[in-house]
Amino acid sequence: MNWQIPRRGERGPEDATDAGSRPKDEAAAIVICASCGHRLADAAAAIEVDGRHRHTCVNPAGIVFRIACYQSAPGCAGEGAPSDYFSWFAGYFWQVLCCGRCRSHLGWAFTGAGERGDFAGLIVDRIAEASS
Ligand SMILES: [Zn+2]
Repeated sequence: MNWQIPRRGERGPEDATDAGSRPKDEAAAIVICASCGHRLADAAAAIEVDGRHRHTCVNPAGIVFRIACYQSAPGCAGEGAPSDYFSWFAGYFWQVLCCGRCRSHLGWAFTGAGERGDFAGLIVDRIAEASS
């Protein structure tokens, strides 16, 4: 893998828009479900997709989601069949991801033939970071 993994504390241009609104824990090690605290992924699994860690996406119903991309999110559970309808990432299928504990909808798994491989996009407002 030669993907560029952003160093902790490094912010992309888009992330600058919410600077100051929520202090980042520089020692954050894991990503958890904001509803129940279930461990979802390692913070180090954060990746950039199409040059950015965070993406603002709009679904066909006009609902805006801000998602953050992770190499994998083993604490999430996939639901339903993968679909390529209105996919936010060209060449990728998406599948709904829910919290493995409380079943809150947390984002989507993106799978496909893209060279960057499969990844998870988690809804920024529904996750949190913790130190361990
Ligand atoms: Zn949960």
